[in-house]
Amino acid sequence: MLTLSYVIALTLIASLSVASNLTFGRVLKQHQGSAAVINISGRQGMLSQRIASLASQLALGDTAVRSDLTSSIDQLESTAHDLVYGDGKNLPALSANVKSIYFGGSHPLYDQLTDYIARARRIAALSPGDPALARELPQLLEAARKPLFTGLDVVVGLRELESEDRLSYLQWIEAATLAATLATLAVEALLIFRPMIRRISRYAYELWLMATTDVLTGLLNRRSFVSRGNSEVARSRRYGNVYSALMIDVDHFKKVNDTYGHAGGDAVLKALAAKLKPQLRDSDLFGRLGGEEFAVFTPGISIEGATELAERLRREVAAMEVVFEKLAIQFTISVGVATAERGNATLETVLRRADRALYQAKASGRNRVMIAQ
Ligand code: GH3
Ligand code: MG
Ligand code: MG
Repeated sequence: MLTLSYVIALTLIASLSVASNLTFGRVLKQHQGSAAVINISGRQGMLSQRIASLASQLALGDTAVRSDLTSSIDQLESTAHDLVYGDGKNLPALSANVKSIYFGGSHPLYDQLTDYIARARRIAALSPGDPALARELPQLLEAARKPLFTGLDVVVGLRELESEDRLSYLQWIEAATLAATLATLAVEALLIFRPMIRRISRYAYELWLMATTDVLTGLLNRRSFVSRGNSEVARSRRYGNVYSALMIDVDHFKKVNDTYGHAGGDAVLKALAAKLKPQLRDSDLFGRLGGEEFAVFTPGISIEGATELAERLRREVAAMEVVFEKLAIQFTISVGVATAERGNATLETVLRRADRALYQAKASGRNRVMIAQ
């Protein structure tokens, strides 16, 4: 479920990014196309004028301009073709408006262009003084002066307008795509990522809880008791502080299980933890090391204080009753106490000594507190 919403969120953002990228690409291509069209259209006007001027020079007897004239005619022809039929690269197709100027009306611009080019070619092939030249040249100059030039100019103007329109439309789409991307990000942050992070933090907290606490009693489990105990010991040793540890074990717990069942035993363990916990300080560590065995770590408490505490706990337990399935269960604990004066021992050592004292408490009759030697 988490993965699915994550994938959906990423896919949305990815598609929007792709869309915005494509739009940007189109805008760029449009820019290039418009620039090319306007540039070529402008050159056509210039070429038509150059052809007229070279043709006049030729008629005046300057035959050296013939090759310039031919190449100008070639250029006008090929650009005219490209503008109308495209160059297969940048140039955009003709709009209906531009097409009607090129091909519609009584004097289609494209016909004028082809006529102009054909006439210019005929002139370029003639020698100065040829009577045909005297016929053709005035018509060429007349076309160049007015209708052709005006027609080409109109096309440039129209194409400029069209490209501005298309450009602003594409820019609008681009802005809309960007807005949609940002809105999607905001919505996803609120509706997908925020709940997702909340759930992940909750899972992480639950995992941490499961890894560090004992499920039955809610006390520290052995692992976290040892790890936190080691940190406390390190601190106590640094400052040369005293600390003590209590090992607690339920007496004849097997008998409790045998008499009241495993569930009865569990009820006893829970009640024991709940009874002892409030007797301890916040700075004490209280853990269930396994089975019916518990440990208390008391920083800053000397052997007298620890023994007193152990004795009080023992009395409390001996006096309590756990009601399980309407039966009152009574039980006792034995406690072993050990101390590290001026913090001169590891946690492991102190716990081992407390455990040995606990063993002695069991050996000498149970329901009692023994101090490690
Ligand atoms: P002693 O007075 O010498 O400590 O005797 P004991 O019977 O308490 O000690 P022993 O170690 O022989 O038995 C402990 C029993 O605790 C054995 C095991 O079945 C039981 N036990 C261990 N973990 C649990 C638990 O989580 N719940 C219950 N109900 N019983 C458990
Ligand atoms: Mg026991
Ligand atoms: Mg035991």
